Amino acid sequence: MKLKPFDLVAAGHEGTLIDDSNMLFFKPSLPKEINFYSHIQSMNQQGLNLLIKTKNEFNEDIEPLNNWIPKYLGYMEEGIIAKDEKQQKTLTMEAKKIELPHLDDGIKVSTEKSVSKPYAVLENLLNCYKSPNIMDIKLGSVLYDLDASDDKKERLSELSSTTTSGSLGLRICGMKIKKFESVNYSQLLPFYHESTIDNLKNIKYISVGKQLGRSQSTLDQVKETLYLFASNHSLGDQWTYAILSNFLKRLELLMDTLKNTPVKLISSSILLVMETDEERVKKNSFEDVLIDDDYNLSSYIENYIDTEGENSLEEEGEGEGEEKIDIETLVQQMSLSKLKLIDFGHAEIIKTYKHSKFQADKNTLQGLNSLQKALELLISELYEQ
Ligand code: ADP
Ligand code: MN
Repeated sequence: MKLKPFDLVAAGHEGTLIDDSNMLFFKPSLPKEINFYSHIQSMNQQGLNLLIKTKNEFNEDIEPLNNWIPKYLGYMEEGIIAKDEKQQKTLTMEAKKIELPHLDDGIKVSTEKSVSKPYAVLENLLNCYKSPNIMDIKLGSVLYDLDASDDKKERLSELSSTTTSGSLGLRICGMKIKKFESVNYSQLLPFYHESTIDNLKNIKYISVGKQLGRSQSTLDQVKETLYLFASNHSLGDQWTYAILSNFLKRLELLMDTLKNTPVKLISSSILLVMETDEERVKKNSFEDVLIDDDYNLSSYIENYIDTEGENSLEEEGEGEGEEKIDIETLVQQMSLSKLKLIDFGHAEIIKTYKHSKFQADKNTLQGLNSLQKALELLISELYEQ
């Protein structure tokens, strides 16, 4: 397996990588982020989730947090999958299953310092997308955790109080969107430039950095940028409407999750992703899933391609008449847009005690509330008159 730089990112630090199958995303991560992911993963492997119990029962209508974050495969240091004592067995299994790099491959990830940060190995959320628009929205008005230095606290308080972070609990952190000749990008001036994306060389992109969000101070401005984002395609109003209303539905479900999950996120983001490829969207008749299963689907497909001709995917049928799973059907089940929570460098799972009252993460929920308001306003202005 070879790793290469990945630049189809909406914001954040440099140094992210993907593998040659495009399924995995490697992010240099702080220990807190790795802890956060591995805690959730190990609960998941035991059939548990973080949802708090109500009236002595799990609330089965609520999506577990796991469905809102990228799938976590483990972590990697200098090309080696490190073996967490507890999870050694499962990680090794996962590593075999997806052939994560190991010592024999001799993969060295080039780093400046001799001791590098470990990489979190995550599902690449953009794997099945041909030409996605992506947007990163940072959540919370408090942007630092208790570990931050006084200097950092001061800097981030200032950043919050002078932007929509302070007033709305969210700030657009950046976006990459496909360039369409028919779209007018002037509202993004002077904060955008044309860019090329390493693995999408023949497609022109528009890249918007953090200065756009830093220049905004009202919900109206955020709303306008959201509209530009959602309508940045060539598929007409039907697709814009489907995108906006699906984002809104997902957001409402995610808020339910966070109201029932004992986590404290600091400086996490919402990542909005949507397909602009006409062929993919039309093939699916504009139909999208709310909660995607992209990682599993792409694993099946990858597996199918690997073994094509010999042992191709077959349904477990009895005896004769075994039916091949149609690869097209799998491809069509993959999402055309998604709303995910990412970036857990300062996130914590809160210990809950019996009988103690659970405190939901107000700081993060405030931002989600603002995003909900912006989406509701947009939908009603555009389509309900
Ligand atoms: P940072 O700590 O550098 O801010 P983030 O976790 O916010 O890192 O990620 C930075 C960017 O990388 C995001 O804006 C997003 O575009 C992209 N990204 C993050 N996670 C994934 C993923 N699992 N798959 C694909 N892209 C991702
Ligand atoms: Mn980030």
